[in-house]
Amino acid sequence: MRCKSCSGEGLLRCPACSGEGIDYGIHKCENCKGEGEIACSTCEGSGKVGLLNKIKSKA
Ligand SMILES: [Zn+2]
Ligand SMILES: [Zn+2]
Repeated sequence: MRCKSCSGEGLLRCPACSGEGIDYGIHKCENCKGEGEIACSTCEGSGKVGLLNKIKSKA
């Protein structure tokens, strides 16, 4: 599914797809604002979180 926020252009700063251009449920980590800090437990340093991870982090 093409990202609606950037029309599939995959903008690096696009918060919806993190530059992937495709919105498949992976979004910029809100905990570290996509910085991907190693200490960030939500995204484990990747700066991105999938829906599954998001749900898991709240459990
Ligand atoms: Zn996008
Ligand atoms: Zn994070």
